[in-house]
Parts: sequence; structure tokens; C-alpha cells
Amino acid sequence: MDKLAKNLDKALFLDRDGVINVDYGFVHRIEDFHFIDGVFEACRKAVAGGYRLVVVTNQSGIGRGLFTEDEYRVLTDWIETRFRAEGASLAAVYHDPTHAELGRGDYRRVSADRKPSPGMLLKARDRFGLDLARSAIVGDRETDIIAGRTAGVAHAMLVAPPDTTPATAADIVVPSLRAAVDWLVAR
Ligand SMILES: [Mg+2]
Repeated sequence: MDKLAKNLDKALFLDRDGVINVDYGFVHRIEDFHFIDGVFEACRKAVAGGYRLVVVTNQSGIGRGLFTEDEYRVLTDWIETRFRAEGASLAAVYHDPTHAELGRGDYRRVSADRKPSPGMLLKARDRFGLDLARSAIVGDRETDIIAGRTAGVAHAMLVAPPDTTPATAADIVVPSLRAAVDWLVAR
């Protein structure tokens, strides 16, 4: 076996809003960032299972002028600190600030990074030497699942309210990140 290929790492890609925190729409203040129950425990379990944690989040609120890159950075620094304190450090957090129709100025463009495009996942692959065929993604929108499928991750898990049956290309529909990780590490 190729020596490099053998050393490749795997990642659990995480959407942010609706997976890590309650999605109130364009969350950009610490006081509005409410972690969903069980998130840290799930992330510790994924790390123990050999997964690097990589957040991939569309943040068109920046491009739409609803909040600034600086506000986004302050919140993200705080989120990363919380994960570190909980023993589940994030390897990286990628975001895409654009929107093809509603972005202002330079933010109004088609971006290869905005999900469902797989750009953020591919950047992480190149940076960390990830084996995407051993990696997985969790999201609460079909665009997350499509980004994962297009990048070639092994497993895609859709978070949806219990008792719903969304049409999806995901491997499994789960009620939470906790349930997604339980399913993933049991495989
Ligand atoms: Mg989401």
C-alpha cells in the first residue's frame, strides 16, 4: 500500500446552525448561540473514534450585510474555545460568506465553497491530508448532504425532526448530532 495513502486522516464534517447550535436564522452573537444538548459528548466520541472535527458553514449573512466578518470571527473564536474546553477541539472552521443573488458588492457571486458545492471540504482535505472516502458529514439541509456526496465522503447523515421523512440522499436520517455519531462509530 502507498505509504502516503496509509497515513491519511479521516474527518467528521459538521454543519453549524441546526447541528451544533439551535438555528434561529443568521445567528451571529454569542448570546444567541445555544449549543444543542449532547453536542460535546458526541464530538468527544467522534474524536475517540479517530475523526478530526471540521466545521463547514454557509454564512451568507455576511454577504447580505446582516453582520460583519469581524462579528463572525469573534463568535467563532468563542465557539472554538468552548469546544477546546470540552475536550473536543475543532481542527478547523470553514465558512463561505457569499450569496449569488443576495450578496452585496464582491459577496454577490457564485462560490465553489458555498454548499452544496464541496469547496470547503476539499480545502480541508488538502490542508489535513484527509481521506474523504473514510470521512463523514452531518447536516440539517440537503445542501450539506449534496456537498458531502460531491466530495466523496463515505457517510452522510441528515439531522431532521423526529417523525419526519425528508427526501434525501443521506445514508440515514437522525434527530441529532448525538444520534449521528452513535450510528457512525457503531459501524
Ligand atoms: Mg444548517
